[in-house]
Amino acid sequence: MVTFISSAKLPTHYGEFVVHVFVHDGQEHLALTKGKFSAQNSVLTRIHSECLTGDGLFSLRCDCGPQLQYAMQKIAKAGSGIIIYLRQEGRGIGLLEKIKAYALQDQGLDTFDANIQLGHLADNRQYGMLAAVFQHFSITKIDIMTNNPDKIAAIEKAGIQINQRIALKVGHNKHNQHYLKTKQDKFHHW
Ligand SMILES: [Zn+2]
Repeated sequence: MVTFISSAKLPTHYGEFVVHVFVHDGQEHLALTKGKFSAQNSVLTRIHSECLTGDGLFSLRCDCGPQLQYAMQKIAKAGSGIIIYLRQEGRGIGLLEKIKAYALQDQGLDTFDANIQLGHLADNRQYGMLAAVFQHFSITKIDIMTNNPDKIAAIEKAGIQINQRIALKVGHNKHNQHYLKTKQDKFHHW
């Protein structure tokens, strides 16, 4: 059950978007859109999970911020697209637990083992709301910007056709080398 609440203009550093807020399972999520969509056209899409430290505080521990900025720039340039911004911080474990996991990573654990040690799944993100969100915007076919095979599986489960996958090759730095290697090795990201 997904309930759309409101939409408003959102001028950004990367151009004019419309921000939509919706609620699923008691949690607020956002969609950022540009342009008009139709069922015939493939829509440039990013499904982005919230990362307050990366998206809002410019953290170099991960690659979330640059990935979000890349998606916004790419959509702005294309003139249409959607970013579905899901409020599932820290791969779904929440901000507080994410910082605790960072503390364990400072002691040498990787992001996978730190989550497990804290009693969480390595990746607890949920994508059950995607079908309703795509349906709301009349989207049936997408060009997805992702390196994450789990997202591809979730999109296919939502009944959405993937026209093409666009790899994200941004946000690498000396602080997140180990993190990105873990994502590749243990989460099987491309
Ligand atoms: Zn992040």
